[in-house]
Amino acid sequence: MSSRWQETVVPDMLDNDIVPFWDALKKHEFRLNRCTRCGTHYWPMTLCPKHEDNGFDEMEWSLTSGRGKIFAWEVVHRVKNPAIKWDLPYTLVLVELDEGPIFPTRLVGNRPDNLRVGMPVEVAYEDVVETGMTLPLFKTVE
Ligand SMILES: [Zn+2]
Repeated sequence: MSSRWQETVVPDMLDNDIVPFWDALKKHEFRLNRCTRCGTHYWPMTLCPKHEDNGFDEMEWSLTSGRGKIFAWEVVHRVKNPAIKWDLPYTLVLVELDEGPIFPTRLVGNRPDNLRVGMPVEVAYEDVVETGMTLPLFKTVE
């Protein structure tokens, strides 16, 4: 599950810099990198570009709401990798998080024809027993 999702949604999500993000997900916590100087949240950036002093390192993995709204979506019917065909179709969604960043993920639990821009969504943690990972999928808020 994780490799399929990784390949099709966010190829660079397993970068070493964001290991804390994945560790938090295992505890069902949605954390974003936050600048402790100006309070801006980032995904996936790990250093705030607003400060030019050398050695700036005032970032933390901040607990967030795990909520946002639909910014855009696309229904995927075909993919190049044959290993993921059985999972089709699925809905890729760009979530505008309450804290600001745009987060690409997969939507679960709602039909694509019911979706609209601005619809509220929240993280839906999916624990993957085989890999020991937890995926940050999203679902619409009832
Ligand atoms: Zn900053």
